[in-house]
Amino acid sequence: MTIKPTLQAGSQDGFIGREKLIAHSEEFRPRVVQVTNGVYVAIGYSASNVTLIAGRGGSIIVDTAANPVDAKAIVEAFGSHLVRPVKAIIYTHNHPDHTGGATVFAGDDSPGIYSHALLQSATPSMGRGQRDGGDAFGMHLPAEDFINAGTQLEYGRTTPHTRQGFLPPTNTFDGDEKPITIAGIALHLISTPGEADDNISVWLPEQKLLIAGDVLLKTFPNIAPLRGLPTRPVDQWITSLDKLLLLEPDFIVPGHMGVIENAAEARNALTAYRDAIKFVYEKTMEGIARGMTPEELVQQINLPEELAQHPYLQEFYGTVAWSIRGIYCQNAGWFDGNPTNIWPLPAKERAEKLVALSGGSAKMLENAEAALAGGEFQWAAEQADYLLDLEPGNRAAITVKMKALRELGERQMNATARNYYLSVANTLKARSLQDSDGLRHPA
Ligand SMILES: [Zn+2]
Repeated sequence: MTIKPTLQAGSQDGFIGREKLIAHSEEFRPRVVQVTNGVYVAIGYSASNVTLIAGRGGSIIVDTAANPVDAKAIVEAFGSHLVRPVKAIIYTHNHPDHTGGATVFAGDDSPGIYSHALLQSATPSMGRGQRDGGDAFGMHLPAEDFINAGTQLEYGRTTPHTRQGFLPPTNTFDGDEKPITIAGIALHLISTPGEADDNISVWLPEQKLLIAGDVLLKTFPNIAPLRGLPTRPVDQWITSLDKLLLLEPDFIVPGHMGVIENAAEARNALTAYRDAIKFVYEKTMEGIARGMTPEELVQQINLPEELAQHPYLQEFYGTVAWSIRGIYCQNAGWFDGNPTNIWPLPAKERAEKLVALSGGSAKMLENAEAALAGGEFQWAAEQADYLLDLEPGNRAAITVKMKALRELGERQMNATARNYYLSVANTLKARSLQDSDGLRHPA
């Protein structure tokens, strides 16, 4: 068995990952695209796409951007295509980047606000438990450190999060599907859980146009996000994509990035997305049944080459490795099956023993610095962690960790990992500067 690179997402090729992530920013170039007669999509003006459907005597808006500032820019970009009154607003799901600008589109029109009933009980999507200033969206990174946020150019960096532009749903549905007609347009609202439990797709049968929300995006899906959220409902995500394939759409408007404008490409993208999620899910479940550990599964499971190269499956947002860990936990719990790990040593006790074994703190620091110099950035960070477990204010160890995280971050093609590494690196840098000013850092 070949050992997988310890760094995922292309990092063994030096800075190729970063170059790919930079090129990926082109997806977020602001533009309004006419997809078919009477359907326009504003891409890149906000964290998510906004779709305008021109109906008889008024308009329908699907998703509303992240905030009122972005929503106003989109109203302006739609120009005369947006004919008032806005008769309906449809939320594909609860995430704030899709629901934050509704007031602007509603204006004085009092539109019906449509969503799945699950939207009202959705868990907050910004995540919990981000350590040492870690932030997958890179909201506080300086411009020189920031490239993009994986599915969007940026989120919350120029306009802070606010729920001020959100309007609560007035028309919700339960269950699988709800056909409606608004402004003479026949629509099917279809429950398609995936990135969000409440995700719906909007199907226009006459136009054969599918507005998919975040169930299909031009990146490997974020099945198990870094930002402290439960693993997404993977089995339901697969079922959702099966359902969408049966529609045989000619056009797909995803929740972020560019649209798909022909049936062959639509089928190809939906199929690849479904196959990739299914592959990772089934291989992980088979491994669990055979008693394999998450660590072993991460080493063994690779997408088949054709899927690994597919443009909709590049690891800009989610990764195969984190998905395996998430699916393992979701289905088999936290315990990896090795009895040594039933009651592992507390981190501090393990660190004491390992540091002693390596010849003491000074020796381990020397090893860590050598690892950093030799390009073994993960090993440098891990040794710095042992030193910090023993002495949280150890400035030399903080410096090693900060430099190692920066190197790791700069080699990522995954935006969320990059943003997280660099956010923590900057926090550690501030901490080490503070200490050098003679201020005591609280242990
Ligand atoms: Zn989204």
